[in-house]
Amino acid sequence: MNEPDLSLAEDRGNVRAIHGARWPDRCVVCDEPGTVRVRHRGRYNERGVLLLLGIWSLFLDKRDVIEFGLCAQHAAVRRRGAWLLVLGLTLPLLASLVLVVSPTGIGPCCFCVTPLLGPVLMYVGWRRAAPVRVVARSEKHIWTTAGAPFALSLPQAPPWE
Ligand SMILES: [Zn+2]
Repeated sequence: MNEPDLSLAEDRGNVRAIHGARWPDRCVVCDEPGTVRVRHRGRYNERGVLLLLGIWSLFLDKRDVIEFGLCAQHAAVRRRGAWLLVLGLTLPLLASLVLVVSPTGIGPCCFCVTPLLGPVLMYVGWRRAAPVRVVARSEKHIWTTAGAPFALSLPQAPPWE
């Protein structure tokens, strides 16, 4: 009997992948045939390291290149998410420009909502731009998020592994 291919498996709603596994040409969100391949550099930090070192932990993070598929619709969602992320990042700059143009009118208002709106846009954008996020990692496997239809289409990871 052939062993089932468990290089990609479903594990409690997430995807468990062997390092370097080939992801199928299907959308990781909705499981429709994929039309776009995306190369994603998954970052992963132990939560303790993240809390201890904050931003400096970025220099210690483990990166795994994952190449997965997306359908045209979810590729568009991802692109819009990336734009939202950029918008959130450049919002302080845009608000500063408005402040220069209109120092007493709408400028101060724009500048005041930036600390609130910027992070919200960045968070929403980041969630959309990265449908696959690394949530755990071991020597052999990584665990990532994915859409439920895709995750459930994979064979189940044996609980003893
Ligand atoms: Zn899709």
